[in-house]
Amino acid sequence: MVHSTRRSFLKVLAGAAAASGANLSKIAALANSEEKPGLADVVLNRLPLAENHFCPFPLTSIRPKGWLLNQLHIQANGLSGHLDEFWPDVGPQSGWLGGNGEAWERGPYFLDGLLPLAHLIQDDRLLEKSRRWIDWTLTHPAPSGMFGPAQNDDWWPRIVMLKVLTQHYEATGDSRVIEVMESYFSYQLRALGSRPLSDWGKYRWQDEALTVVWLYNRTGNRKLLQLAELLHQQGYNWRKQFESFEFKQKTRLQDLGLANGKLPPDRAMQTHGVNNAMALKSSALWWLISHDPDDRSGVDRQLAALDTYHGMPTGMFSADEHLAGRNPSQGVELCAVVETMFSLEQVIAILGDASLGDRLEKIAYNALPAALTHDMWAHQYDQQTNQIECTLAQRPWTTNGPESNLFGLEPNFGCCTANMHQGWPKFTSSLWMASTEGGIAAIAYAPCELKTRIAGVPVQIEEETEYPFDGRISFLMHTEKPTRFPLGLRIPRWAVGAKIVLNGDPPEAAQAGSFTVLKREWKSGDRITLELPMAARTRRWDDNSVVVERGPLLFSLPIETAWEKLRTRGMTADWEARPKSEWNYALEVNELNPRLAEMSRKSTTGESVLELGGARIRVEVRGKKASQWKAENGVAGEMPSTKVSSPEPLEKLTLVPYSAAKLRITVFPVTGPSDPSGE
Ligand SMILES: [Zn+2]
Repeated sequence: MVHSTRRSFLKVLAGAAAASGANLSKIAALANSEEKPGLADVVLNRLPLAENHFCPFPLTSIRPKGWLLNQLHIQANGLSGHLDEFWPDVGPQSGWLGGNGEAWERGPYFLDGLLPLAHLIQDDRLLEKSRRWIDWTLTHPAPSGMFGPAQNDDWWPRIVMLKVLTQHYEATGDSRVIEVMESYFSYQLRALGSRPLSDWGKYRWQDEALTVVWLYNRTGNRKLLQLAELLHQQGYNWRKQFESFEFKQKTRLQDLGLANGKLPPDRAMQTHGVNNAMALKSSALWWLISHDPDDRSGVDRQLAALDTYHGMPTGMFSADEHLAGRNPSQGVELCAVVETMFSLEQVIAILGDASLGDRLEKIAYNALPAALTHDMWAHQYDQQTNQIECTLAQRPWTTNGPESNLFGLEPNFGCCTANMHQGWPKFTSSLWMASTEGGIAAIAYAPCELKTRIAGVPVQIEEETEYPFDGRISFLMHTEKPTRFPLGLRIPRWAVGAKIVLNGDPPEAAQAGSFTVLKREWKSGDRITLELPMAARTRRWDDNSVVVERGPLLFSLPIETAWEKLRTRGMTADWEARPKSEWNYALEVNELNPRLAEMSRKSTTGESVLELGGARIRVEVRGKKASQWKAENGVAGEMPSTKVSSPEPLEKLTLVPYSAAKLRITVFPVTGPSDPSGE
């Protein structure tokens, strides 16, 4: 097996050289960041890898500010900063701390969010917590090179811990990381022949290949590319799945062949939401090695298929826990949300596609906070786009259990409890990236500060904004001396009419749906203001239904909610949420004539701005009761598919940001155009 692997790898190399012959000298010049002084803070791809469009900055180059800093503090004061104090699975007996407790994915998952969070807010308490896990991991590799708890030799949890170690290295330069990785990968290259990737590791191979490429770019050890080839060969072929996509319907339990105590069969793995979320990075990552254009375009095929058959207005796809169709009452798991975000962050770096940034923001500003309570002390396993009740009851999920949409410690299963922490920190560290042209680019917008060096010159950019609530974003430049470099700004597709103002000059138009690149000599005090028009708009959804959006935010009708504590769970609790107001409304809006009035309201609570108390923007619409639309088994039943005509009066309805409404209607039927009761 090893022999054939080497042969096919050489073929890949030969193909790569032929395909990119014209670019070879350019790639060679970029093969080491020392040869490109404009990019001192990032590490570029080495030959024979294809060139990234952008390069992620090291973890500590970007600091959160404003509401984002507040959000990370809320996270640190919630489950993320305390989970290990009362949840045994990441407690002191964890196998990843040398104990005899949980020795699989939960410790690494927890660290994958805790560690970047600790660095981003420079919290000594959380840094100390992270350090214990890192130290145990780096000081206990086996003589063979294997690392992690000896009582569990599964490849999969190590894939997660490797991602943690890359972040630790970038934040601290701890050279033990390189040593442990080198010997582990060397061991794995020998061991995979007799103990190949299987189950979760087989379907998530690309997340290890990501770290293998990361290390190759730092050491240049060609054996690592051989390992990447072997992972690809043994891993599941996601490209093929989406070249002839067969999972076009809501998954049926009886088709999966699941059995208690047994690993899920292949069909269950292929339709598994989190697997599909993680796989979004597989083709672009593999393109770095294969140079095959069909790998490069793989993510577009994946997203198109998931959108078409399972898409949700949040930019996610339904999966509860298997692909579940486009009904807005189906759920999506929090792990799938944070893993989709991480995949998009990786793919944007490789491909530089602005539309992936639009999707990243949409998920980060809607689906991520929606699944968590205001204080980040409880989360849902599954969130629904239309969510009328969160109670302990069986729902029309594909395979998930009756706890799935409760807000709590570990509803349904504890994976999200351990894995959710990476969402905000990794989004924060991806707000800016270096461009391989020797400049920088804003990938997503939130208040923050970037510190880097360009052409050897220290450069700092203060980004001030209330985005996503306001479309005005201000960048203040500090450079040690005047320096020429390109500055890219992502202009979202919805931002038609976007303008850029430089130092008070007349505004210049920027093209929506692309990166606008400003090339000039920058000096301290330069101020760039980006104006992204944020008119409220409607978007058609299935069967005469609509959703309401403004900028990257989705708007929902909040349902008045009665919260009831179901049980105490250590330092937190499990909660049910029951509706106390009517929810079945049709909206009097359509794409041609959206009668939407915005009402701006500043936060006064000081709480998370993404929540109801702090939500700054409301959208006013008119609608009427659609009495034929009824609840069925705790979910909104089938929506009227034709325009709703009824004698009910039109009422003024106030919509709030999706994440602020824990019970909500987001996808609405519409009223008929010639309704006699209309005004
Ligand atoms: Zn999960």
